[in-house]
Amino acid sequence: MPSLETHFAHHIAWTSDFPLGLTVERAEGPYLYLTDGRRLIDFISGIAVSSLGHRHPRVVAAIKDQVDRHLHVMVYGEFIQQPQVAFATLLARQLPPALQVVYFTMSGTEANEGALKLAKKYTGRTRMVAFDRSYHGDTHGSLSVTGRSVYQDPYRPLLPGVTFLPFGDLDALAAIDETVACVITEPIQGEGGIRVPSVAWMHALRQRCTEVGALLIFDEIQTGFGRTGALFAFEGFDVVPDVMTVAKAMAGGMPLGAFVASPEIFATFRSDPPLSHVTTFGGHPVSCAAALATLQVLLDEDLPAQALKIEETVRARLNHPLIREVRGRGAMLGMELVNQPVTERVVQRCLTRGVLLGWTLHSDTLVRLAPPLTIPANVLDEALGIIIDSLNAEKP
Ligand code: PMP
Repeated sequence: MPSLETHFAHHIAWTSDFPLGLTVERAEGPYLYLTDGRRLIDFISGIAVSSLGHRHPRVVAAIKDQVDRHLHVMVYGEFIQQPQVAFATLLARQLPPALQVVYFTMSGTEANEGALKLAKKYTGRTRMVAFDRSYHGDTHGSLSVTGRSVYQDPYRPLLPGVTFLPFGDLDALAAIDETVACVITEPIQGEGGIRVPSVAWMHALRQRCTEVGALLIFDEIQTGFGRTGALFAFEGFDVVPDVMTVAKAMAGGMPLGAFVASPEIFATFRSDPPLSHVTTFGGHPVSCAAALATLQVLLDEDLPAQALKIEETVRARLNHPLIREVRGRGAMLGMELVNQPVTERVVQRCLTRGVLLGWTLHSDTLVRLAPPLTIPANVLDEALGIIIDSLNAEKP
């Protein structure tokens, strides 16, 4: 009988020649259990998805309860579905007056697609501004505003009229003018290598967008739902975007995305033509039920505060001559090592010793540190010990 691994090789489309290829049996809390008997501490959380840990009991219960009521019933936006409405209401309660209306999608990139279309339609303009080393997703629109040409070039032509500016550069903001429909940015760049801009830059960006009438879109797909120590990263900069996109951790491990804006901005989707942006599965009721439970857990257990405690512990422990810098906010951290070969060996060694780490897309010397926000103190301590031991093993 061919093994699962053989079928994986033959029938699952690969996106690199070197997939991690770990065979998962189950996952619980901070742990992944593999079929070969290994238990790994999950220090990447499915790339910032499993912020509550795997299979949080309240999320699992909400999913089971919704499965017993109904699954998909109608394309998005036509029927009143209790899980969508309940979650959007609780989410809106956490957000400022400019962000009160939610359009649900299935993924992050689909949320960004919707946000870009919304900005074009609302402003009647077509130009877009994005930043170098950004990552906004892999569908054509999102890829068009993703700031690394190695990922764009094979797929050109992409959307015309996109200008990339250096991330965090105050002077460059002058390039945003009255022809621009929107500026899209991550408040903290994830795949770009965990890059945190200054508060002053964020304020200047907000001001410039307001001056020229361009919508400011914050992609909080990776930063959202507590990961950076606030429910959303924009709170940490004291800047409110016109549109916010979210996904990843939102539904506790279920697929869900959304773009959020004001009723005034969303009014543009109702006419000329009606149904100008539609999705079949967006806001799936099971995902929304999971998202409601996830947000309730985040609030009840004050998990954003937990993210700050993780940051404190990580920064205190990760001091080593091979570490150039630990940067980021909350539990969205990156450990910059001295060079690529060391980085590769350390990540591999940690895997052998039971900690799953990973890279970010645009950097090969930065190790992503994104444990679940619920990681118990002793497990965090164990993982950090393994990272230090793996660094020590580099010494001659
Ligand atoms: N934006 C950001 C900031 C992301 O980190 C990601 C995924 N890594 C996306 C968009 C795309 O999300 P998805 O994979 O759900 O399409």
